[in-house]
Amino acid sequence: MTADHLISTYFATGTLPDLPRDHFIDGQFVPPAGGARMQSYDPGRAVPFGDFAAGTAADVDHAVHSATRGFAIWRETPPAQRCAILMEVARLIRAEADRLAVVESLDSGKTLAEAQGDIAGSARLFEYYAGAADKLDGRSVNLGNDNAAFSLREPVGVTAHIVPWNYPTSTLVRGIAPALAAGCSAVVKPAETTPYTALMIAELLIRAGVPAGVVNVVTGTGQEAGAPLVQDPRVRHVTFTGSVATGVGVMQAVAPNVTGLTLELGGKSPLVACADADPEAVAEGALWAIFSNAGQICSAGSRLVIHRDLHAPVLERLVAKAQALRFGHGLRNADMGAVNSDRHLAAITAHLDSARARGAEILCGGNPACDPDTGTGWFFEPTILDRLPADDPAIQQEIFGPVLGVQVFEDEDQAIALANGTDFALAAGIYTCDISTALRLSRRIDAGQVTVNDYWAGGIELPFGGNRKSGFGREKGLEGLDAYTRAKAITLSV
Ligand code: NAD
Repeated sequence: MTADHLISTYFATGTLPDLPRDHFIDGQFVPPAGGARMQSYDPGRAVPFGDFAAGTAADVDHAVHSATRGFAIWRETPPAQRCAILMEVARLIRAEADRLAVVESLDSGKTLAEAQGDIAGSARLFEYYAGAADKLDGRSVNLGNDNAAFSLREPVGVTAHIVPWNYPTSTLVRGIAPALAAGCSAVVKPAETTPYTALMIAELLIRAGVPAGVVNVVTGTGQEAGAPLVQDPRVRHVTFTGSVATGVGVMQAVAPNVTGLTLELGGKSPLVACADADPEAVAEGALWAIFSNAGQICSAGSRLVIHRDLHAPVLERLVAKAQALRFGHGLRNADMGAVNSDRHLAAITAHLDSARARGAEILCGGNPACDPDTGTGWFFEPTILDRLPADDPAIQQEIFGPVLGVQVFEDEDQAIALANGTDFALAAGIYTCDISTALRLSRRIDAGQVTVNDYWAGGIELPFGGNRKSGFGREKGLEGLDAYTRAKAITLSV
């Protein structure tokens, strides 16, 4: 079925045919051991459209057992064969892209165009890491004539992947693609509001030739399914993407087993606009830095740190652009989709209520909203809060919605102090026409990635990750393989 056909089917019936409902364990769909199920909601209409398995410790035990057996097979699969199979996964994702994108948009609330970009990027991730599967070589080391010495790069074993709801497919794939390329197996726990694409991708992997048991998916809540997974001593690496509070809990949970950990946590990333920057480019860049995916991006440019001379020309343009954005159902061609859940909408609203009570200057937006066509759904207006002090909660806390905080600076030292003035250090953007300023600021800003004159520039080939409370470890790029391999040194006396 084409995307158009799937969309009309959804609006006619309120659901989609053939949505996976069960866990995916040992190469097949398996009903939950406890028999319980949960509902998944369409955030654009605030109605349920499908159910799925509510996993428990028994399902996790089954999945980790399966992944342990899968690892024994997969680690012995020749790297060239792993490469060919992962290339086939990319081809199948492209063949199923329409269906994957419609499900992703419906489940998360994001626009179809955003979901299509995520699915295309996920196919690229599999290709990229397929190309690395047969190049994970060790080193030959010279210890003198009486020794031969070399190192191997071995897979770490069973890996666990805890995935959030804002990028259900791409966050999943940026973890499992390098893990599989390295020869690891995986157990995935998708977010409780976005279970479906992980199950669909797992099924595609089997169709592509990945042996049963190598990738398993257990759906359900963080407490019931996520916690037993990260605590399982058979798991040798956990890749967690989510909030700081949950990430800290996961760090404590893996400690007794000394399990490896990658933490991709939150952000409060600055877009620093220097006095010499083009106001139109800054306004357009800042618009999409914060309002893409309705602001639900860990690396969203949620703070505009702007030189005082640029403030008026940029804010005039930016407010007009924000007010012109059409928000609406993700499957109906909106510029900006819904926020993911009623709970998350309430959290964003509470941030704005408290900003208003503090007397914050709201240049536009500030309220929860409905789809203008249907009067339903979980939406929040594109919002800009002006001239916030550095210690304001809307500057210090991640709101994770379409809310931009503006901070004004007068000189470069002040810009750096503001840019680095939160607990987070994930991403940053700089707008300037001067190459020296660009390079100097890039070095002085504490962040895992810095872009100049195009906030979202970059790609899967570059490492991605945070510093300080934004987490540790890197995904994407060749660095993304490091968590899933470990070096073994071998010496022979000859
Ligand atoms: P969350 O921390 O509430 O949940 C993330 C995942 O953890 C979900 O799958 C959840 O079920 C699971 N979980 C919850 N409790 C658990 C437990 N005790 N043990 C194991 N797993 C558990 O986060 P969220 O609200 O789903 O996602 C939003 C957050 O994710 C934001 O803070 C955002 O910045 C962050 N995020 C970061 C990145 C990044 O790459 N740095 C990317 C996307 C999202």
